Amino acid sequence: MNMTLPYLEPLVPREPAERTVPEPPRRGEAGGPPCRICEGATTKAVWSDEHWTLHPPVGGSLPGAVWLASRLHVDSFSDLPEELQADFGVVAARVERAILSLGDVARVHLYRWGDGGAHFHVWFLPRPLGMVEASGMMLPLWEDVLPNVSDDELAEAARRVASAL
Ligand SMILES: [Zn+2]
Repeated sequence: MNMTLPYLEPLVPREPAERTVPEPPRRGEAGGPPCRICEGATTKAVWSDEHWTLHPPVGGSLPGAVWLASRLHVDSFSDLPEELQADFGVVAARVERAILSLGDVARVHLYRWGDGGAHFHVWFLPRPLGMVEASGMMLPLWEDVLPNVSDDELAEAARRVASAL
């Protein structure tokens, strides 16, 4: 695979900034802004069960992208009860298979950065078939640079994912 940045080169390396310690609180952490997932301030779920909700993004460029959140407000994998840690694998596999069923998708990448809201959620991003320059870690960069599609189109693709689950 020939991963390529979505920018013309040469890019110029720069030094890291001074460290910020303590770090500012994240959304949903004590002292931070409220949790948007718990407040229901995100996109409506296109699918849910007793443990998980699945949502379309807004302002994105890859139809078929979705994010999965726990119903529990916990931060990370290690904060989930063991039962849900195991169930995550089952649900993630179903979501992956559903996204692949849309067609024109080469791979489904999972991104869990852990620097956004402090409510467990994992992104599923479809890499378009044949777009090898966007392989691996390049995909979210390309996702950012490619022209956005409408939020309606993103929601419609997410509903198709949900109906294939
Ligand atoms: Zn929350």
